[in-house]
Amino acid sequence: MKKYDVIVVGTGNAALSSAISAKENGSEVLVLEKAPKEKRGGNSIFTDGAIRFAYNDLQGIKEVVTALSESDLSEIQMPDYNTEDFYKDILKVTNGESNPELAKFLSNESFETILWMKKQGVKFQLNENQYFEINGNKNFWGGLPIKTVDKGIGLMNALFKKAQELGIDIIYNAEVNKIEMDHNKVSAVNYLDNNKQRITVNAEAIILACGSFEASIDKRVKYLGEEWEKAIVRGTEYNTGDGIEMATEIRASKAGHYDGCHAHTTDYNAPKVGDFSKPGDIYKKSSYPLGLIINKNGERFVDEGADFRNYTYAKYGKETLRQPDQKAFQIYDSQVSPMLRKEYNLKEATKIVANTLEELAIKMDINPDNFTKMIEKYNSSVQEGDYNPSVKDGKSTKGIIPEKTNWALKFDQAPYYAFPITCGITFAFGGISTNIKAEVLDEQNNPIAGLFVAGEMVGGLFYHNYPGGSGLMSGSAFGKRAGKSAAEYVQINKVDN
Ligand SMILES: Cc1cc2nc3c(=O)[nH]c(=O)nc-3n(C[C@H](O)[C@H](O)[C@H](O)COP(=O)(O)OP(=O)(O)OC[C@H]3O[C@@H](n4cnc5c(N)ncnc54)[C@H](O)[C@@H]3O)c2cc1C
Repeated sequence: MKKYDVIVVGTGNAALSSAISAKENGSEVLVLEKAPKEKRGGNSIFTDGAIRFAYNDLQGIKEVVTALSESDLSEIQMPDYNTEDFYKDILKVTNGESNPELAKFLSNESFETILWMKKQGVKFQLNENQYFEINGNKNFWGGLPIKTVDKGIGLMNALFKKAQELGIDIIYNAEVNKIEMDHNKVSAVNYLDNNKQRITVNAEAIILACGSFEASIDKRVKYLGEEWEKAIVRGTEYNTGDGIEMATEIRASKAGHYDGCHAHTTDYNAPKVGDFSKPGDIYKKSSYPLGLIINKNGERFVDEGADFRNYTYAKYGKETLRQPDQKAFQIYDSQVSPMLRKEYNLKEATKIVANTLEELAIKMDINPDNFTKMIEKYNSSVQEGDYNPSVKDGKSTKGIIPEKTNWALKFDQAPYYAFPITCGITFAFGGISTNIKAEVLDEQNNPIAGLFVAGEMVGGLFYHNYPGGSGLMSGSAFGKRAGKSAAEYVQINKVDN
């Protein structure tokens, strides 16, 4: 097979961003994907397309969503959000453990990156899940006002189209399992094709963008703990940590929170791994700040109103996993049910409806006495105050544990709704050590010549939790950078030779 300048491993957002960027910067690029063509696009194709960036103010939004008219803009109430806000959000939710260099890079590059994505043909729209309509205004909250048109499907279709236009070669059913070195520089990859034949392709530079290990049961148990064995995998079945293994075999240093991951509360009856015939993130259950979350003993176990959903959802999946039978219920009364996200009304959603608290408890298979007592106690703890779901309204409970610190309304208006949930793992936080040039670093912090990394494989960015919409931005920003760095490396290497 012909020798390429740059080989990119994977076809998710990070991989295709890397490939397009490397090509833009003058390299001949080959992309190798483990999945068959019909299962391409990795976790990225399963996403809701919500993408975080430092837009500064409404003017920044207008640059990205050019279709917005002056009249549309006049209905929008949106807090400003700059690079410092993005950076602080990362540091806040990661308990200060995020690598500051990487976090700064991500926040600083985010605006330029989203404009670059737009240039590649990705289309953006306002994120309808990130505002509440109040007095005719769209009141945005949580720093995530934009999503890609047609979610992850639209994003990936645009990137595949661009890759094709640029003449980037893609081989499917190519499970990359080894990186070869020559004189301390990467020189080739080996992959297994459909017939398990080993194929070698030579290249000057390699970009690993093939996800973390969330879809490997063995690695979940090894790194995250035994309780993760049965977690639902929300995205692709192919992210089994191969990239981490290949990189560490050639002395790359691991980095990041290996016993941490992003996990979301997910429909109890969702498929055990992401179903490529139904992408679009339809099983997640994100509206819990409007209601309550209880386990099968009828007990609450988290502060549903601790913060906007964007800053708590990635860690509440794990809390659900810790409950009896790894099961819980989100419950809503009819004063808030009209505000539930669309996923709650899809035919795929498991939904329980009841006219009394007792009936709801029986349908959830929870002891009705325990349940009604818990609700009575909760209702009597709710404090007076103005309710406003688009700001942290401080309308809280008092005297119960856990408290609900915002958006606490009495649970007393029938009909009542319950949605059984469990934990769905999104991606693992463990990755590979890198710097802001996306170079892979060895244990002495020296770059491994010719090896670059992007996306979920970037280690050290996320610990414990993550600000919603950062995964796609990380894939795009580090992917764009990895492609550029790889192409520059190839140029220099060619001159040297
Ligand atoms: C249901 C769901 C919803 C989400 N919603 C959002 C959202 O709205 N906003 C957001 O920011 N983030 C979201 N995320 C997180 C987001 O998907 C990831 O952070 C991001 O897409 C990861 O991109 P990536 O390119 O690194 O990995 P992926 O998109 O997973 O791509 C990795 C690719 O590598 C391939 N691969 C793996 N091993 C090999 C191998 N050995 N050889 C060749 N190829 C290999 C895989 O098949 C896959 O194609 C969501 C995730 C899920 C699962």
